[in-house]
Amino acid sequence: MEAFVISDVEAIADLPAFVQQRFREAESAVAFTGAGISAESGVPTFRGKEGLWTKFRPEELASVEGFLANPELVWEWYQHRRKVLSEVQPNPAHYALVEMEALFADFLVVTQNVDRLHHRAGSRNVVELHGNLEENYCFQCKAPYTEEIDLSSRQVPRCPRCGGLIRPAVVWFGEMLPEGAFATAEAAARQADVLFSIGTSGEVFPAAQIPMLARTHGALVVEVNPEPSLISEYAHLILRLPAAKAMPALVELLKTIRKS
Ligand code: NAD
Ligand code: ZN
Repeated sequence: MEAFVISDVEAIADLPAFVQQRFREAESAVAFTGAGISAESGVPTFRGKEGLWTKFRPEELASVEGFLANPELVWEWYQHRRKVLSEVQPNPAHYALVEMEALFADFLVVTQNVDRLHHRAGSRNVVELHGNLEENYCFQCKAPYTEEIDLSSRQVPRCPRCGGLIRPAVVWFGEMLPEGAFATAEAAARQADVLFSIGTSGEVFPAAQIPMLARTHGALVVEVNPEPSLISEYAHLILRLPAAKAMPALVELLKTIRKS
């Protein structure tokens, strides 16, 4: 199937009739987001140029094996990412999704991001498939850990209940997705009339099944990504633009269509 491709933000106000009709009639929508939606907030991607961190492979920093082999190093990396996050803000694409929530009877953000920027922008219906960078829990007994993390003594914090190592509440390579999160995302994808895939390469599984599932259950699939991705192969409409440019224009169009 040939997708309809748009690479000029002005053209979003004038999308093809088949798209406008689906937008008008849609009752439920899902926004599936990845690292690209936060790129314009200044959140570096995993494999990006990160100074010191380019020396390590993602598997060393984001796997159970890597954590057990060198918990101090893994904690330094996550504390570094937390510091980056404390210095950035949601961008217009995150805010556009907050506005979208009000436009559909059912609207769910399904994110692969761990940065909490959807929450900080004000989205209320968010499923985090890969956990988040704000919370921590015990590697051994799984109890939540709510104390501040302090690495100044170069000691990794330990669980007050069982003495186990404390870890960040993110999903690492090879781990199961949080219980319930994937099921909620799947159910929403199955009944979605429209799925927006924003800033994701579609290469991380099982998360990347979500847009495909929506497609096979009849949703109109809209991709927002300046570069081709695995999602592009089955999208109906592609906005080849950065999310912070495309999403506000898309919301303006949706507001007009859904009022008329
Ligand atoms: P990815 O790095 O595999 O792909 C990012 C995609 O975003 C690419 O296709 C790229 O073309 C696109 N992109 C770049 N700039 C964009 C922009 N301005 N607007 C729209 N799209 C843009 O990211 P992924 O698909 O999310 O998978 C990577 C994994 O890494 C995820 O599991 C995620 O949990 C994790 N991660 C999260 C964060 C975060 O929380 N912000 C950051 C890095 C990595
Ligand atoms: Zn414990």
